[in-house]
Amino acid sequence: MNQQMEQMDAYDQAASEAVELGNRLAEADQEASLWDIADGLLAGAIQYWLYSRQPCGDPRCEDCAPISTAEQRLEVLHQLVDELARESEYFHAPTDANAGRA
Ligand SMILES: [Zn+2]
Repeated sequence: MNQQMEQMDAYDQAASEAVELGNRLAEADQEASLWDIADGLLAGAIQYWLYSRQPCGDPRCEDCAPISTAEQRLEVLHQLVDELARESEYFHAPTDANAGRA
């Protein structure tokens, strides 16, 4: 692990390594579709996120209250996806059908 990685927190490191993994996979298989790689990364990320958000089982736990049912977790996940997408530098593309019409 290089020094730059050690200085990152877990959130930044996970995000950065996920992108690097995508780049590595794309480089290793030039024939692979970037869409397939990205969809696979997303599937793995969602799997990991849901795994991490299993309620602890204490019905009075305040931490788990917002994620105590599958539908609640999906709602939280949707919100997170929405925020992360809108914050992304790639949310708007210069080639968007509606680009330049703002
Ligand atoms: Zn809990």
